[in-house]
Amino acid sequence: MPLSRYMISFPDPARPDTVILHSTRKSSTVRVSQRLYAAALADELGDKERDTLRRLLLWTDDLTAEREEMAGLIDHTNATSTTFAATIVLTLDCNLACPYCFEGHFRENIAMSEETAALLIEYVTREQLGRGRDVELRFYGGEPLMAMPRLKQIAVSLGKAAAHAGRKFSFTMVTNATLLTPAVVAELLPLGLTSAQITLDGTEEIHNRQRPFVSGKGSFALILANLKAVYRDILIKPGGNYTRENYREFSAMLDAMLEAGIDPAIMGPVQFSPILPKSGKIDPHAAACVASSEPWLIEAGLHLRGETLKRGFAVEKMNMGVCMIEIANSLVVNHDGSLYKCPALMGWPELSVGTLADGVGDYRESHCLDVWKNDECLDCAYLPLCFGGCRLLSYMNRGKIDGVECRKALFDASLVQMVLQDLNAGR
Ligand code: SF4
Ligand code: SF4
Repeated sequence: MPLSRYMISFPDPARPDTVILHSTRKSSTVRVSQRLYAAALADELGDKERDTLRRLLLWTDDLTAEREEMAGLIDHTNATSTTFAATIVLTLDCNLACPYCFEGHFRENIAMSEETAALLIEYVTREQLGRGRDVELRFYGGEPLMAMPRLKQIAVSLGKAAAHAGRKFSFTMVTNATLLTPAVVAELLPLGLTSAQITLDGTEEIHNRQRPFVSGKGSFALILANLKAVYRDILIKPGGNYTRENYREFSAMLDAMLEAGIDPAIMGPVQFSPILPKSGKIDPHAAACVASSEPWLIEAGLHLRGETLKRGFAVEKMNMGVCMIEIANSLVVNHDGSLYKCPALMGWPELSVGTLADGVGDYRESHCLDVWKNDECLDCAYLPLCFGGCRLLSYMNRGKIDGVECRKALFDASLVQMVLQDLNAGR
C-alpha cells in the first residue's frame, strides 16, 4: 500500500461518499471519492491521480525510502540550514504585574549588561554570520521594550556585522505591547524589526485582572490602541493566556480587535496558550509548543482555533512540529549570558547548555536528542507533527529528559477536527 505512512484518512462527515486524506508531512489535504480511495489502497491508481497524490506527499513509491528520509530529515535540515535563530532575554523588568507571570517571584530589575551584550554580538558575528548564516533574533523579557538601549546596541551592531558579511539580520519581539507605539516601531523598523508577538487575555475585564500595570491600572485599552496604530507597519501575532475557567470568553479579544477596525487579513496567526497549573516556572509564551492531552486542553484548543478561523483571523499552520532542542542553529540566551535550547527550560539552570563566554557544550545526552528515532515513532503517522514530543514535559513529569512524551492521544482526539476546521474555513 504505497499511500504515505505520514497521513491520516477519514470519511468526510459532510459528504459520506468521499474520504479526506491529510498529509502530516506537507499539511496538504484532499477530498477523494470512495472509489479513488479504494483504488489507492489497491495500488490501482492511474498515472495522473498518482502524480497528484505524490505531489501532496500523500503517496510514496517506496515506503522504506520514505521512512529513511524522515529518519534523516532533521540531520539534513541542520546540515543545510543557513539561518541562526536565537531568543534573547534582555531584561526581567516589566511594567505589568501579571499574577501568573513565571518571572514575578524573581523579577528585580535584572537586565542584560553591556558586557554580556558585547559577548553576544561577538559570538553571533564569529560563530553565525562568520559561517555564512543569516541571523533572526527574538527579543524577550520581562518586557524587552523596557531595555531599549540594550536592544538597539545589539540590533545596530549585528545589522552592521551582517551587512559586512553579506548576510541578512532581522528581529522580532515578545512584548506586552504597552510600549509598542508608532514612534517605537518607526525607530526599530530600520534596525530590522519585522514582527511582534503580543498578548490580550480575553475580555477587557479578564485582561485587566490578569495583566494589570504595576500600579494596578488596566492595560487592555492602551494595548488595543497601540495595535491599531502599528499593525499595518509590522506583522502582529496576537495571543492570549487562558485558564480552564475562562477560555470560553477568549474570543472576546478577537471581537475587540474587529470592533476597533483591525483587519484580520493583515494580522499574523493567533496563538492561544494555556496557563498550565503545574508549570510554575514557565511563561506561557515560552512554552506555546507544550501540548498536553488533558481533555479540557484539547477542548479549549479546538474551541479557540474554531472561533479564530470563524472571525477571519489566521492560525498557525499544522506544520512540522520539531522541538527547538533538535534544531542545531537555535539557541536561547539568558540575560546573564547562559545558554539554553528552549525558553521554557530557563527555569532549570541544570539544563543550561553553556555560556556566551565558553560556548555551547555537548547536550546530546542531557537533552536526549534523536529520542524519536525508534520504530514506533518512525512508523507513526503523527511523526512530522511530533518528533517525540516536548522535552520540557518529560522533565516536568519524570525529573529528567529520558524518552518521548507521546502525543498520540492528543492527535487522535484533535487532528481530524483541525483538518475539518481548516476545510470549513477554506484554508
Ligand atoms: S522542550 Fe521543545 S517542545 Fe517543549 S516547550 Fe521547549 S521547544 Fe517546545
Ligand atoms: S512520540 Fe508518540 S505521537 Fe510522537 S511520533 Fe512517537 S509515537 Fe508518534
